Amino acid sequence: MNIILLGPPGAGKGTQAKWLEEKYSIVQISTGDMLRAEVAAGTPVGLEAKAIMAAGGLVSDDILIRMLSSRLGKADAAKGFILDGFPRTVPQAEALDRMLAEKGLKLDAVIELKVDDAALTDRIAGRFTCAKCGMGYHDTFKPTKKDGVCDACGSAEFVRRADDRRETVAARLEAYHAQTAPIIPHYAKTGVLREVDGMAEIDEVARQIEAVLAKV
Ligand code: AMP
Repeated sequence: MNIILLGPPGAGKGTQAKWLEEKYSIVQISTGDMLRAEVAAGTPVGLEAKAIMAAGGLVSDDILIRMLSSRLGKADAAKGFILDGFPRTVPQAEALDRMLAEKGLKLDAVIELKVDDAALTDRIAGRFTCAKCGMGYHDTFKPTKKDGVCDACGSAEFVRRADDRRETVAARLEAYHAQTAPIIPHYAKTGVLREVDGMAEIDEVARQIEAVLAKV
């Protein structure tokens, strides 16, 4: 199963990717996570990406296409993947088509999570993640069961993304509408695009995605 999760920041792509990984034994490929790892490690890519990410802009297509191509070549991607955060521009979508064709692979579904911009800032600004196991939470919508303790692994250390501040969210949404939304017609044309209501509760969104995938 090869899937793209498409939608603006805060639409719930990462949250949905987690259960999809388990259910279909496929791997989540988050280019945002990959870039954050490069920034943390201080690599040349990380150094180039850091300021752009902090400002809510998009890192260059060249870097992202190279990064994704090498990631898709790894053994664990052969069983199937969920792309989360890629493609984000038309050139990236076209490059992905070429990469998949070269490998003899196809996309089973491009799932667009439809959400209102107005809800996104609140969703994003309240996000935090367990520093140890990566479980995602939200101050209002998905708090930990016990205050300050990760439900999944018991750790008391959490992190918040630097670009999840309210000031940066507007720039990220603008980048989505200007550069990423234009890839939607690209996938509508090939018949793989499916819409899901990303405003629903997390479990309901999951149910809708499951129903979509049951038909592919
Ligand atoms: P995300 O975790 O998907 O929200 O990505 C965080 C940030 O990483 C974005 O705001 C961009 O600056 C950068 N980024 C992630 N994926 C891409 C991509 N496919 N193309 C360009 N920039 C990206």
